[in-house]
Amino acid sequence: MRAKKSNEAPVDAAARVERAREALLGWYAASARALPWRAPGTTAWATWVSEVMLQQTRVETVVPYFARFMERFPTPARMAEASEAEVLGLWAGLGYYRRARFLHAGARAVCERFGAEVPRGVEALRGLPGVGDYTAGAIASIAFGERAPLVDGNVERVLTRLFAVPGDPRSGPVKKHLWALAEAFADHPAAGAVNQSLMELGATVCAPTSPRCLTCPVRAMCRAAQEGDPARYPEKAPKRAPRDEEWTALVGLHGGRALLVPSASGRWEGMLVPVLAEGAVDPAALGAHVGARAVMEHGVVVHVLTHARMSIRVYSATLEHAPSAGTLVALDALAGLAVPKVTLRVLAAVRSSGVAAPTRRR
Ligand code: SF4
Repeated sequence: MRAKKSNEAPVDAAARVERAREALLGWYAASARALPWRAPGTTAWATWVSEVMLQQTRVETVVPYFARFMERFPTPARMAEASEAEVLGLWAGLGYYRRARFLHAGARAVCERFGAEVPRGVEALRGLPGVGDYTAGAIASIAFGERAPLVDGNVERVLTRLFAVPGDPRSGPVKKHLWALAEAFADHPAAGAVNQSLMELGATVCAPTSPRCLTCPVRAMCRAAQEGDPARYPEKAPKRAPRDEEWTALVGLHGGRALLVPSASGRWEGMLVPVLAEGAVDPAALGAHVGARAVMEHGVVVHVLTHARMSIRVYSATLEHAPSAGTLVALDALAGLAVPKVTLRVLAAVRSSGVAAPTRRR
């Protein structure tokens, strides 16, 4: 189905933008949540870190990670000096690890190209690793006060409702229309506050399934609320069910510790995982790679990701000798290591059967 734009006349849309923006700015000044990355004196680097962490992740989850990151990496230079493994270790548990790798690469690029200062301007920001239109718009407007637009999931929802925009917002024409609306909103001296107010409204009032229209500051100008069924926007294409995947994991054990290896696959690239193979692989063959014997089965762990539902048959095996590659880890000393949740779940399956006991503390 071809996506249709809202049928509002441009002059009416411009007036609606202006009225909504003023209402939003007043509401945001009075009601914005006090979040660590909104504190006075927040640097452009802190804005960047927070925006990357907040992608696909809840505010409550991000807060402690942000505090730890800013303490360890208060500037791009401090992150650029660190190893990728350390950055991934501090990121562990936040998911979508590509974000951490890009942030690290971005910090290094800033040091190499911009004298360790986050550059101004959407164009310069867009040239940094992992910085797309959204992140560039966020840093440019929030940190530098530039009139740069942004559209994330929250803004997309608010705009499609305010203007009753039909069609899938991920489709080209609708996406273009939403960015044009966001651009109109951001054309203001307080563009950073305007952008944040749109995001804040989506996060706290204009919720996906039950928008709180009665307390909404832009209710009087909202076409979806006037139509009476705001939750019908945005008109997203139905989500595809995660595909089922079968995997085999083998945990090599030596001296009560577990062998983890850096993953070569895109999903957890560079993170520490057990020996993993897609499909129902013969565990003896997997064990042979790491010099293991006496394979034992520990059942199936189901690990659900956004696009895949992994059924992982877990095995452990005793290693004949200390491994020449990979890292031997004590099961109760994983903090600070670049370990994704899938590794924790596989190790928990092995540990729950009493095969690998935690190390004794002295
Ligand atoms: S009036 Fe309702 S649908 Fe419209 S922006 Fe506010 S919360 Fe969202």
